[in-house]
Amino acid sequence: QSKPNDPSSHSDSHVVVRIRPGSGNGEEGAWKVKKVSSDALCVGDRRFTFDQVFDANSNQEDVFQSVGVPLVRNALAGYNTTILSYGQSGSGKTYTMWGPPSALVENSSCSSHQGIVPRIFRMLFSELERERLASDQKQFNYQCRCSFVEIYNEQIGNLLNPIQQNLEMKYDSRNAPYIENMIEEYITSYDDVVQILIKGLSKRKNGATSLNSNNSRSHIIFTFIIESLCKGTTKGFSSSKTSRISLIDLAGLGRDEVDYGASQCPKESRHVELSLSHLERFVDALTNKSQSGKNEDIPHSDSCLTHLLQESLVGNAKLSVICSISPDSKSNDETLHTIRFGEQVR
Ligand code: ADP
Ligand code: MG
Repeated sequence: QSKPNDPSSHSDSHVVVRIRPGSGNGEEGAWKVKKVSSDALCVGDRRFTFDQVFDANSNQEDVFQSVGVPLVRNALAGYNTTILSYGQSGSGKTYTMWGPPSALVENSSCSSHQGIVPRIFRMLFSELERERLASDQKQFNYQCRCSFVEIYNEQIGNLLNPIQQNLEMKYDSRNAPYIENMIEEYITSYDDVVQILIKGLSKRKNGATSLNSNNSRSHIIFTFIIESLCKGTTKGFSSSKTSRISLIDLAGLGRDEVDYGASQCPKESRHVELSLSHLERFVDALTNKSQSGKNEDIPHSDSCLTHLLQESLVGNAKLSVICSISPDSKSNDETLHTIRFGEQVR
C-alpha cells in the first residue's frame, strides 16, 4: 500500500464504466452492451471487468459514492487525485462530471442531477470544516485555490478570465509544469466552488449551455489545491500537506453521435485525436511503470494535456477514470475503444 510522501509509491487507479440511457431511437439492443454484474459488462459475448459498472438506472449519487467519496478521503490524506471523464461525444461525460448548469443553482428543483464535481466539494468542505472546528482553530487550518481551464486546439484558455486565451506552458525550477500568467482564485467555501463552476462552464467553447453539447471538442480541467497545516501535533511538530485535485472532462472521442462528419472542423478533430492518443500512451507508460517499478521515461511532453497531468499523476497519485458509453448500435467502435482505455488503466 502506497503512502503520501513515500517517494517509492506509484499511482493507483480506479476505473468505472457508466452506460448512459438509450437515446430512444430504437437502435438500442441491436448491439448489446449490457451490465451483467456490479463490476462487469458484456459487449456482445465478450465480458469486461472493472471496479464498478453503472447502467442506465444509476444516478449521480451512485457514481459519487463510488468515485467521489474515496477521492475526498484520499485528497484529505495528502494524495494528488484525478478524475478523467473519458468517452465518445454524447455518451454522458459532461453530465456525469458537472451535471446540467441549472442543477448547480441553490435549491434547484433538479439538484439530483448535480454531477460528481459539486458533490465532491460539498463533502470536502464539510470534512475540512469539521476537522478545523474539532481541532481548536489554531491547530488545523487550510487554504484552497483553484483554476479552471479549457484546452482547445492545443491552446490553453482561462475559463475564469476569458481574456486569457493563449496561455503558455512553462516549467519551474523543479521542472514542474505550470501555466504562465494564470491567476488562481482563492476559495473558502462550497458556495465559492459553485459560483466558479457556473461562471467557468458558461464560458466553454461549443456552448455548454446549448441543449446539444455533443460537439465538445475541448478538454476542460478544473484544478483545486488544498494546503493544510496542523500545528503542534504530537511532540510539538507541525505538519503541512498539499493535495491537488484534478477534474477533467475530456473532449469527445471519435465522431459526433448526432451529425458526425458533417459540420466538424477537421483541425479540431485532429487535435482531439492526437491529444487523446498522447494521453493513452502517457497513462499506459504510467501504469507499466507502476507494475514494473522501473523509472522509464514517461512521454508527458507531447501535448498540453499530458504536460498538465504530469504533476497530478506521477508520484503520490490516485487516478480514477469514468468511462462513459452509449448503448446505441452506431457507437460500436467508440464503445470498444473506451472499454479498452479503461482496461489499460486498470
Ligand atoms: P458528452 O459530454 O459525453 O458529449 P453529455 O454529458 O453532454 O455527453 O450527454 C449528452 C446528453 O445526454 C445530454 O443531454 C445529457 O444531459 C444526457 N445524458 C447523458 N448521460 C445521462 C444520464 N446518465 N442520465 C440522463 N441524461 C444523460
Ligand atoms: Mg461533454
